[in-house]
Amino acid sequence: MTSGGTSPAPARRRLCEDQASYDTGQSTFAEAELVALWLLGRVPESVAPWPLLRAGRAGRGAGPDVREAVFRDPSGVPLTGDVEVHLRASDYVRHGHASDPAYDGVVLHLVWEDDRGTLAGTPTRLAGGGLVPTVAVAPALGGDPGRLRRLVRRGPSGTEPCGAGAAERDHDTTLEIVRAEGRRRAAERAWRAARLVELRGWDGAWAELLVRSLRSSAGRRTESQTERDGLATAVTGGLGDRLATELRQLALEQQPGVLIDGLRRSGQPGRARATEIGWNAALPLLAAGAAAYGDTELARAVAILIDRWPAPRPYGRTEALQRLIVGDDEPRTGRGALYAQGLLHVQDLWCERGGCGVCPLSAEADLAGVGRPG
Ligand code: SF4
Repeated sequence: MTSGGTSPAPARRRLCEDQASYDTGQSTFAEAELVALWLLGRVPESVAPWPLLRAGRAGRGAGPDVREAVFRDPSGVPLTGDVEVHLRASDYVRHGHASDPAYDGVVLHLVWEDDRGTLAGTPTRLAGGGLVPTVAVAPALGGDPGRLRRLVRRGPSGTEPCGAGAAERDHDTTLEIVRAEGRRRAAERAWRAARLVELRGWDGAWAELLVRSLRSSAGRRTESQTERDGLATAVTGGLGDRLATELRQLALEQQPGVLIDGLRRSGQPGRARATEIGWNAALPLLAAGAAAYGDTELARAVAILIDRWPAPRPYGRTEALQRLIVGDDEPRTGRGALYAQGLLHVQDLWCERGGCGVCPLSAEADLAGVGRPG
């Protein structure tokens, strides 16, 4: 979002937009309800300019309201992009998006009503010069926010092919498909660790993987570079002088807790963070070592550890995907790191690249058979 002299700061503006409300003369409703209607796949089919394959996920912080929506364009090719939602079409300019490159990934401007007078129904111009369709929802719902609310109360439409796929197969099979994706992600990490070893040697690769893992697991903690370096030194120091040998010994126990405790010998970091270090740094390096030395005993132990590794804190990024394939009531923890990583893998490799219909979680059925209940 723009941050010109008189414009509100991005976070503040997002708050204002979420709270934006519309008085229809009968009742008042908020922009957030229109966003919810879209995310639940409940916008009437006739409104969207192309068949919708995936509604996308809620945008967080500054930027478009909906990320990574997927449509099927007229040539049949998946079209992925953001959706910006407003109560009135003129809000796009009023909120400063027309000059904000953060909105150049928008492919659809969804509004309750198009209030632009003679320009109503014309495309919305992006900061980069692109033009995207502006579509109004109110006409399809008789201008009645009550109908919008009733649709929202019905919950997700389940139109994505993975929703249909999950309904077709038994629950355990769906979970196993996700875990298989997690194994692919783990194998990719091991491959990258091996390349890093070629460049930096074993100790250098460990140091780099450790620092990367500490950086990504800091969460909202404010941590200076000096503190992070100190933490890395403590973890490595706790493993002693013969780093590779010690990691191997810990891994051969085949118990995640033993390896995690080994990473915390210095008394820090906390258990959750050590669990992430184990997954992101120790296991990839151990897998690379097993392959490099033909160490089958270690390879077997690493495979068992990967299978048993506890889940990290739930990733908000995969929340929508999780809901699609196993529903709202299922816990997001307790299925292990493989499951959590599998969701990330599917999200990165398929959902964000328009993979609906061809990803491993899609229904067997032809996409054309996947209807959109109104
Ligand atoms: S790519 Fe696959 S998993 Fe992702 S939303 Fe589409 S059907 Fe679902």
